[in-house]
Amino acid sequence: MTDESWADDPAYEHVLYSTLHEGRIARIELNRPQTRNAQHRPLLVELDDAFRRAETDDAVRVVILSGVGPMFSSGHDMGSKEHYEERDPGPLQHVTRRTNGGSRSGVEARMLQEWHYFFENTRRWRSLRKITIAQVHGPVFAAGLMLMWACDLIVAADGTTFADVVGTRLGMCGVEYFGHPWEFGPRKAKELLLTGDSMTVEDAYELGMVSKVFPADQLAELTEQWALRIAKVPTMTALLVKEAVNQAVDIMGFTNALNAAFTLHQVNHAHWMYLNEDGTPVGTPQFGVPSWRDAPPVEPAARDTPGGVARAKDAPGNGSDTAR
Ligand code: ZN
Repeated sequence: MTDESWADDPAYEHVLYSTLHEGRIARIELNRPQTRNAQHRPLLVELDDAFRRAETDDAVRVVILSGVGPMFSSGHDMGSKEHYEERDPGPLQHVTRRTNGGSRSGVEARMLQEWHYFFENTRRWRSLRKITIAQVHGPVFAAGLMLMWACDLIVAADGTTFADVVGTRLGMCGVEYFGHPWEFGPRKAKELLLTGDSMTVEDAYELGMVSKVFPADQLAELTEQWALRIAKVPTMTALLVKEAVNQAVDIMGFTNALNAAFTLHQVNHAHWMYLNEDGTPVGTPQFGVPSWRDAPPVEPAARDTPGGVARAKDAPGNGSDTAR
């Protein structure tokens, strides 16, 4: 998309874009509430366009990323009808399924597609030349974490929980953008990935991963008030604060670790593609990984119980039936 077309209504289907407060705040809202903002390819492509639109607009100082409906984002779309239509060959297949490696075969196709649409796009959003705030609510699972972690600051509603369930539900070593050791701490990252348990918003606040915990019914309003405060910092100062911190963690190895973990992630997919006769790229019940559709519900990581007693389908709180 060209800069000129950004002057017009972007007419996104899956994302809402608006500017507030004399254009100083841009709000990008994931808008697939019927799938709990599951990330299918059209949504990710529109989201990238919306971030670039905010980047281009010199009036914008702070970008808020949020989700319409019952949760911020349930993760990558693995089950909606629209996902199968945009993924599989046919009239509704998304054009990017045939470019950026999509027309290649085997591990190469998966590695290139995941690099473009799960990894490098997330890294690009992290490096936006604006201050970004993720405003999250509901269970933030798996690829929901990636969107949130790409932002500079995180604000959450009361009751929000955080989990990467791909270890226990898909036999994968975490999502493609492996921020876990940096966000949770190394040992907690291992625990959460090996159990699939969730972290409470209180614990996330104690860790410093979440900056503010607001009542759900005031979440958007209070986030905007906070964003306005941050928008008062001179743009040069704000950018250099962001870069000073991001470059510090890069020097500590953040970006190299992300690249290394992405490679391991692809080895993990290749393992399952090799073992599953139909080429399924994730773990399956015959190898001891329960189907994600009827996996046990996510439990909070409790200090004083081993957990793991909840059975599939008979306990509440199983965040999403469409996505991980
Ligand atoms: Zn993957």
